[in-house]
Amino acid sequence: MSQPLLLNLRNLSCGFNDHRVVQNLNLHLNAGDIGCLLGPSGCGKTTTLRAIAGFEPVLEGEIQLADQVISKAGFTLAPEKRRIGMVFQDYALFPHLSVAENVGFGIRKQANCERITQELLELVKLGHLGKRYPHELSGGQQQRVALARALATEPQLLLLDEPFSNLDGELRRRLSHEVRDILKARGTSAILVTHDQEEAFAVSDHVGVFNHGRLEQWDTPFNLYHEPLTPFVASFIGQGYFIRGQLLSADSVQTELGLIRGNRAYTWPVGSAVDVLLRPDDIVYAPDSPQKAQIVGKTFLGAATLYRLQLPTGSQLESIFPSHADHLPGEQVGIRVAADHLVMFPAPGSIAAQVNLGESGVRRYSSDD
Ligand code: ATP
Repeated sequence: MSQPLLLNLRNLSCGFNDHRVVQNLNLHLNAGDIGCLLGPSGCGKTTTLRAIAGFEPVLEGEIQLADQVISKAGFTLAPEKRRIGMVFQDYALFPHLSVAENVGFGIRKQANCERITQELLELVKLGHLGKRYPHELSGGQQQRVALARALATEPQLLLLDEPFSNLDGELRRRLSHEVRDILKARGTSAILVTHDQEEAFAVSDHVGVFNHGRLEQWDTPFNLYHEPLTPFVASFIGQGYFIRGQLLSADSVQTELGLIRGNRAYTWPVGSAVDVLLRPDDIVYAPDSPQKAQIVGKTFLGAATLYRLQLPTGSQLESIFPSHADHLPGEQVGIRVAADHLVMFPAPGSIAAQVNLGESGVRRYSSDD
């Protein structure tokens, strides 16, 4: 059964001095879900987060939390009245307070402060470090303290602004999984800001991809990867290259890799020029295939190898080969297309680009087809 709606942003515009940084934003989050705002630098993620927190006014539209409108043009409910917790990129711990005092700060006047603090320290695996001071902790430990401190006041919604960006590599990956587990175990709803797609996918149920202050798609990680609605989302999420093709029927396209048939129907006119998205997992290693490509780059990943390939026309693709398929740059290899999720967009200037079909022109097959 789906959870009730918790956060609803309706036609939201916000920014600075009447300059709209974020425009006409619509998204909603159900209770218990984790959402993520993802996009390149300067696209408006932090501005949106700060508007939800109540630090920035709303110029148009409104923000509703549970049943209450907390921001709209001319009205901003004060941040401390929102039952929203924040975790910042730089942790923002109080340096003169111990770890336990930091965690219990927001509930220090409650009788059960000590017990809740200890429970939260156990939850974030710092039960033995309550007496230390922030400067005696590693970056990952400080971030866990910041998370425990934000959870202590039992916020309805937790906002995390680039929470792992000061950490590196493996620690960052491990902590992002841990944070998801902790939030899910407590049923805490959260919105996270990041520009790291891997982190967004690891933590979130829904991800919003921003581009120049507009939300291009709010969807599950699976749909963003396999069913991007715009060329920007297709390029920003995951790896992949576009190759030019010509629509032969609703679900098939002629390309330099031959006829590609997908599992969805497009309603653009037959004959339209289209750009077909091919992800590395859409191109498989097929030594006996007559379709050859030249290897122009190689990244050994351990369990697999990512090859960059060039077709006779000069178009490039990427493909994941099994780890044992060991080839050198310059060699010709056999490949085959195995793209169930056929994703394409009208080529610029094509007939399809002039026909406004809404979204990406896609009609997914349903059981009625
Ligand atoms: P990043 O990933 O780099 O943090 P972001 O997507 O979070 O980027 P924002 O911080 O929301 O982007 O900034 C969006 C735009 O608003 C940028 O062009 C930025 O220069 C501008 N901006 C941010 N803060 C202010 C401010 N206080 N006054 C004026 N403009 C601002």
